[in-house]
Amino acid sequence: MKTLQQVLEDWEAIIGLEVHTELTTLETKMFCGCRLSHDDEPNENVCPICLGLPGALPVPNEKAIESIVMAGLATNCQVMRRSMFYRKHYFYPDMAKNYQTTQGPIAFVMHGHLDLEVNGEGAQERPDATVKKASDGSYVAPIRILRIHMEEDAAKMNHLGGVEGRIGGASESLIDYNRCGTPLIELVTEPDLRTPEEARLFMEKLRQTFLTLGISDCSLEKGSMRCDGNISLRRRGETTFGTKTEMKNLNSFKSLHDALEYEIRRQAEVLEEGGVVYQETRHWEPSKRRTVVMRVKETNDDYRMYPDPDLAPFDLSDEFIERCRARVPELPDAKRDRYVRTFGLKRDHAARLAGDPAVARFFEETVADADEKLAGVVANVVLNIVPAHPGVDVHQARVISELLAADAVTFAQAHEVLEATAGTDVDPETYVDEHGMRQSTDADALGAIVDEVLARCASQVQQYRSGNKKVVGFLVGQCMKATGSAGNPKLFSQLLVQKLDG
Ligand code: ADP
Ligand code: MG
Ligand code: ZN
Repeated sequence: MKTLQQVLEDWEAIIGLEVHTELTTLETKMFCGCRLSHDDEPNENVCPICLGLPGALPVPNEKAIESIVMAGLATNCQVMRRSMFYRKHYFYPDMAKNYQTTQGPIAFVMHGHLDLEVNGEGAQERPDATVKKASDGSYVAPIRILRIHMEEDAAKMNHLGGVEGRIGGASESLIDYNRCGTPLIELVTEPDLRTPEEARLFMEKLRQTFLTLGISDCSLEKGSMRCDGNISLRRRGETTFGTKTEMKNLNSFKSLHDALEYEIRRQAEVLEEGGVVYQETRHWEPSKRRTVVMRVKETNDDYRMYPDPDLAPFDLSDEFIERCRARVPELPDAKRDRYVRTFGLKRDHAARLAGDPAVARFFEETVADADEKLAGVVANVVLNIVPAHPGVDVHQARVISELLAADAVTFAQAHEVLEATAGTDVDPETYVDEHGMRQSTDADALGAIVDEVLARCASQVQQYRSGNKKVVGFLVGQCMKATGSAGNPKLFSQLLVQKLDG
């Protein structure tokens, strides 16, 4: 097979995503009062409604509708004032009613968009001139969202005795209806994505947005956020779409990217050999790094969709919509821009902090009234040191940031100190002093050591002067050794360069 780069020179990939998100932060299911919890004993949280017993009548969960409207507002969608629930029929034991309650042509929220900032290596996946690229190769891709509709999840099936929990070869199947009736929102994008990287970024941005809204725990691994990737190819310059396949089992950002990449290369090979791409559902096998056919795609006609006579058309009032709008918190992009403005952070640091609401909260508590220099260090500490040491609290993160900003400890020492103090009430500064770790920043004392090192490392000095600037690293190492690691390496480096260049 050709590489992705080779394929994309001749072909344009057309990608659309369908993303299901369980509203895991709600208390109860979509149409009944059963507790929303998947961790209880199997079939603990069930009732006549979610078991589909005759005569049981559904009642929509208002909180779930608040959540989907918030999701729509956060993704620039239009809120549809009137929509309906439909029955989508299929026979399978994971849905005892034999139909899923979902929405028809009109969803609660429709016609939105998210703008993706694509940069770095990922931007190179898009070689064409259909987007304007900045001088560093980065570009913005506006991705339209067709709709987000409300539906309910099915029960969890447990196939025993087969391979990897799949039904083929299984000796028996167990059903847990705790998950049945879980409020689920499905977002469908327009086919606007053009590379696996754009698809990955879209999913990441959506996850950050939903996490910030607090409507789901958004776990790809646990399956509370699931993504199907639709993909087709067309020759560059063509305007009509080719036949698409739909990819399932994309339960990590890497799987999403790699499955799409594989499928683009596979379809290109089929088409270049004169074959046809069949409209089918394919399963990504991460261990074998390939997709295999699951089933030929069913059409909408197979589902016999019709409005659910048990659920009246739904009218959303202005008051309800405004209440939802008021509950939408500051979103990741706005938060990123504020961090850049207020704290002078680097844009990518700001974006990473703003992308996860828990990290953002921790950062804001730690950074409180810091100046720009300290804020930059706090950002670095929160992103690159704290995650390695679970249990570090805000006070500890702040103290270590101040010590770093004052050059009193090195980055490596900061790790060491937090490793020792995380989860305890020991103050990092006390720890540093008790262990004699404080770095000397006395320029006179360090200058004497620099002179001594330069005097005995004549050959490295020679190398530096003939252009090998990297040799400074070695000289810093010698200085550190001479002080038993008590000197500040950054200061040593500055002093060395001053003296070598002077
Ligand atoms: P289906 O009826 O097969 O589910 P939809 O029209 O509902 O198809 O589209 C499902 C998803 O597939 C959407 O995200 C859409 O953007 C995407 N899509 C539609 N047509 C194509 C195509 N030709 N190539 C790639 N993606 C497509
Ligand atoms: Mg569809
Ligand atoms: Zn129930």
